[in-house]
Amino acid sequence: MAKGRRYAPRKKKKQPFWISAVVLLAAALLAGARQLGLSWEDLPVVGSPASSTVQAVPEGTLEVVYFDVGQADSELIRLPGGQNILIDAGTSATQEALVGELRSLGVETLDLVVATHPHADHIGGMAEVIDQLDVRQVVMPRVAESETPTTKTYENLLQSIANEGLSITPAGPGAELWNQNGAVLTVLGPNGSGYGNLNNYSVVLRLTFGEDSFLFTGDAETESEEEMLARGYDLSATVLKCGHHGSETSTSQAFLDAVSPQYAVISCGVDNDYGHPDAVTLDKLSAAGVEVFRTDLQGTITAVTSGSGVTIAAQGKQGT
Ligand SMILES: [Zn+2]
Repeated sequence: MAKGRRYAPRKKKKQPFWISAVVLLAAALLAGARQLGLSWEDLPVVGSPASSTVQAVPEGTLEVVYFDVGQADSELIRLPGGQNILIDAGTSATQEALVGELRSLGVETLDLVVATHPHADHIGGMAEVIDQLDVRQVVMPRVAESETPTTKTYENLLQSIANEGLSITPAGPGAELWNQNGAVLTVLGPNGSGYGNLNNYSVVLRLTFGEDSFLFTGDAETESEEEMLARGYDLSATVLKCGHHGSETSTSQAFLDAVSPQYAVISCGVDNDYGHPDAVTLDKLSAAGVEVFRTDLQGTITAVTSGSGVTIAAQGKQGT
């Protein structure tokens, strides 16, 4: 498929000068003051905001889609009010497919996009998403300058954010990113800095809706899990997206006990080089009686709730 060519150009929102200034300040902060080479005159041509969601989930229903993006992560939260939140965007290899999937769901506007941490399997497709769709807010972890990546992937993302006149909201623990129509999205991590491992900077999010809850862990490893436990957060969740693609470096027993999920979703690639998910993780989940869904085996996974019980369905893999 030609990159975005079959779609009509999107109209842009008008951004006042101060937002542009905030963008450049935030980008400089997060990129270790690297110059983006932009001035506010370079920002997009102004216009009216794009229309909102075409195809909403049924009234009173919340849906979470765990996309099959190979050895990577990307989840979409479709909120009962018709808004949409994207957590991670897979790699550059699946970016066009991801944008196509989002459009097939009627998603043209993303009210919030969260980059859990700046690794290519989480942000590789995010610049394309920001270029193609109407993104209204971007949340990222505040990474220590010495650990800020210098990858082209990260630079591309910052450039797309700047091009769209967006600001970057740093994720702080305890922050409520969303609270509308009974759906509440709260930041639980990261709680520290200077990790020496970007995975532990992963933004960890807990979404609650009625009696049900979802935990999104990015690639947070045991160190981050221990910090969340030490903080005494309510980590319980009906559905756990296992950290770090089911690696044994995440989903520690104490953390799993605290989350006590009914379902677990593992996002990983078929026959991936890392051996994810790890047998240790699968054994723990099995011993805890957790029903496991895997994108490598079952394709895109969709969880639906009206607030009193989650139903999960797998799309299935083509050709299997
Ligand atoms: Zn990852």
